[in-house]
Amino acid sequence: MDRDLEDVRQRAATGPLPAHPRVDELVEQAYRWAMPDTSGAVADYIPALADADPELFGLCVVEVDGASHAVGDVDVAFSIQSISKAFVYALVCEELGHAGVLERIGVDNTGLAFNSVMAIELNDGHPRNPMVNAGAIATTAMVPAADPDARWAAVRTGLSRFAGRDLALDDEVYASEAATNQRNRAIARLLESYGRLEDPLEAVDVYTRQCSLLVTTRDVAVMGATLADGGVNPVTGERVVSPDVCRDTLAVLASTGMYERSGTWLFEIGLPGKSGVAGGVVAVAPGKAGIGAFSPRLDAAGNSVRAQEAIGYLSRALGLNLFASAVHDGGAHDGAAWGARP
Ligand code: GLN
Repeated sequence: MDRDLEDVRQRAATGPLPAHPRVDELVEQAYRWAMPDTSGAVADYIPALADADPELFGLCVVEVDGASHAVGDVDVAFSIQSISKAFVYALVCEELGHAGVLERIGVDNTGLAFNSVMAIELNDGHPRNPMVNAGAIATTAMVPAADPDARWAAVRTGLSRFAGRDLALDDEVYASEAATNQRNRAIARLLESYGRLEDPLEAVDVYTRQCSLLVTTRDVAVMGATLADGGVNPVTGERVVSPDVCRDTLAVLASTGMYERSGTWLFEIGLPGKSGVAGGVVAVAPGKAGIGAFSPRLDAAGNSVRAQEAIGYLSRALGLNLFASAVHDGGAHDGAAWGARP
């Protein structure tokens, strides 16, 4: 890699991140800030997820130079769930290009829950975006491959390249979701009825596997950092997708990554992000860092409560909000709330 990373960091609109020790401190503070919030509930519609320890909490920032800042349960494995949608979408855009994926999948928020059937009906069978289940299942079906095994292998390998290590399937979560995912199968059948999916059950099976891949909070931060770094994994140095694909993926995450709560998230936090029902969240500060956060209690939309609190704190303290127009003060203040700074 022969780019001048420092130059990339300076060019980010809101200025560079503070020095590493200050980022360490602020990650600690964000963790302590979010820890007391025990609101929300662990997902139980996938039976295996109901067993998760609700107290688990990990927070990790990986910068585009590969430096990492971690606190809490950052090495505990959990199923990636819907966070996978962001990275499979990037892989499909890399293979098929901007226009084809835009036409078939879309980029607009449905304003409805991630597993909404009504959203499909209201849009004449168009899934609207790749972050709700309908769009994600249709996106997975677009991964170029000769057969389902090859498609699953391509998804697993692609997500592993984002993480920088071989990701393994959680057999228990996969079996549990495969036995109870009638709703996703119905969504896929509905897409089929509109001529938008050829082999619905195969697509749901590969999608269910991709959701059951095991990751840690650290992995999620590295995956996010790869999108922040224009498609180059900052730990392995491998190019996974192009800068154009990263830009497109981040735009879709900003509009749809937190489902019907995407507007609130963008207003409060100002970063592209994606959640999963096991409690993981990835957020991306382009040109700066990826943030991984994990805690199993979810709000009503299915987004981890503590993860949102911690990432919001970091966005404020580290000056990550994409809509800011001035260089940030470099972490001189904490991120307790907007307006807390003098
Ligand atoms: N596998 C889950 C499902 O399809 C993913 C949903 C999520 O993480 N929001 O229901």
